[in-house]
Amino acid sequence: MDLHAGYPYSLVRYGLPFNYPRLDHNLQTDVLIAGGGISGALAAYYLTAAGIPVVVADSRTIGLGSTCASTSLLQYEIDVPLVKLSRKIGEKNAATAYQLCYRSITELEDICKKIEAPFFDRRDSLYLASYKKDLEWFKQEYTMRKSLGFDVTYWDEVTVKEKMGFDAPGAIYSGMAAQTDSYMLTHLLHQHSLKNGARVYDRTTITDIAHKRNGITAQTSEGYMIKAKYLVMATGYEASQYIREPLLQLRSTYATVSEHLDIESCCWYNNCLIWETRDPYLYMRPTKDKRILIGGRDEEYYNPSRRDKLISKKGRELKKDFNKKFPHIRFIPEFQWTGTFISTEDGLPFIGNYPAMPRTYFALGFGGNGITFSQIAAEMITEIILGKKNPVQKMFAFGRGK
Ligand SMILES: Cc1cc2nc3c(=O)[nH]c(=O)nc-3n(C[C@H](O)[C@H](O)[C@H](O)COP(=O)(O)OP(=O)(O)OC[C@H]3O[C@@H](n4cnc5c(N)ncnc54)[C@H](O)[C@@H]3O)c2cc1C
Repeated sequence: MDLHAGYPYSLVRYGLPFNYPRLDHNLQTDVLIAGGGISGALAAYYLTAAGIPVVVADSRTIGLGSTCASTSLLQYEIDVPLVKLSRKIGEKNAATAYQLCYRSITELEDICKKIEAPFFDRRDSLYLASYKKDLEWFKQEYTMRKSLGFDVTYWDEVTVKEKMGFDAPGAIYSGMAAQTDSYMLTHLLHQHSLKNGARVYDRTTITDIAHKRNGITAQTSEGYMIKAKYLVMATGYEASQYIREPLLQLRSTYATVSEHLDIESCCWYNNCLIWETRDPYLYMRPTKDKRILIGGRDEEYYNPSRRDKLISKKGRELKKDFNKKFPHIRFIPEFQWTGTFISTEDGLPFIGNYPAMPRTYFALGFGGNGITFSQIAAEMITEIILGKKNPVQKMFAFGRGK
C-alpha cells in the first residue's frame, strides 16, 4: 500500500538514525509483532517491560510506514466529540474512551522519561468552534468534559479574539495535550527494547500465518519461519487485508511545514495546538525548531496518483487557511507531504482479537489521534497476554455495536 508521498518533515529532519537487520534465519519467541511503527514499538516496549520475549518484523525500513508522515500532535480528543460519541456508544463508554486517551498523554510522557527520549513537549490545546451553529453542542461538549474532571476552560468569541487575535464563535482550551515526533519516538522505543532483549528486524515481510490453538507460525517473504505463542498485528492501515468486513474508510490528508522562523517570540498564545470542529479540520502547531506545521484539507479517497498530484495545491491552501488566522506571520512553506489515513465510524481504534485468527491481537490505532490509541492498544494487549481481564477492551473490539 502506498502510505505517503512528498517530504514528511520528520524523515527529512532525522533521516535514518539507526539500522536494523533483515531476518535471515528461523526463530522462536513468545510474541511476534508484525509491524514496527509507533504501534509495534509501543507494544514491544510494554511486552519487554513485562518480561515477555518479543520479535518485531517490519516489511519496510523501521518507521517508514505512516509513522514518519505523522504530524505528531498528542491529544486526548477523539475525532468524534464526546457529546456525539455518547450518542453513539452511550455516555459511560464515551467517557471511558476519553478518560483513557486523557491518561494516555501522561503515560506517553512517563515512557519518554523512562527511555530518555527528548521527544515529548507538553502543550495546551485549543479546539475552535468553526461555525456559530456548532455552539449548542460545543457548549455541552465543554460541560461534559468539565464534569469528567478534565482541565478545560470555555472561551467565548471575545476571549478568542483577545488571546488569539482571530475570530471564532467559541473555543475549548485544554490544559492536557502534547507534541512528539512519532518517528524518532519509534526508533528510541526500539533501541530501548533491544537493550531489554527484544529482537527487531526490518525489510522482513510476514506473508503467511498459520494459526493454531497453542500458537502461530509465520513465514517471511524470504522463506524463514517464526514460531510464537502470540501474534500482535501492528501493521497499521495495511491491516485491512486481514479483515474481511469493510470496517475501514481510507482517506488522504495533507501537511506542510514552514521555513524556520527567525524571530524571537514565535508564535501565538502559549504555542498551543490548534484544531477545529469543521470536517475535515485544519490543525496546526509550532515545532520545537520554530517552524509552523499545518495539516488538514483531507480528501475522501485513497488513490495515490490523484492524492499525490494535489500536494502543491493543498500546501498553498493550507498556507491560505493559516494566514486567515495569522496574517502577520510570514509562513513560507518548505516541505509538504501527503499520507493515507483511516477513520472509523465511531472514531475509536480496533484493539484485540479477530475471531478468525486465534492467538492474534490487533493494535490498530486509527483516526486523527492514532498515537494515543497505539499506546492504549500496546498496554491493553500486554495485559491480555498476561492473562488479565480488561472489560473496557470490548469497546474497541471487532464487531462492536452489532
Ligand atoms: C499526515 C498524517 C498526519 C498524522 N498526524 C497525526 C497526529 O498529529 N497525531 C496522531 O496521533 N496521529 C497522527 N496520524 C496518525 C498516525 O501517524 C498513525 O496512527 C500512526 O503512525 C500509525 O502507526 P502504526 O505503527 O500503527 O502504523 P505504521 O507506522 O504504518 O506501521 C505499520 C508497519 O507495519 C508494517 N507491515 C505491514 N504489513 C506487514 C507485514 N505483512 N509484515 C511485516 N510488516 C508489515 C509496515 O511496513 C509498517 O511499517 C497522522 C497520520 C498521517 C498520515
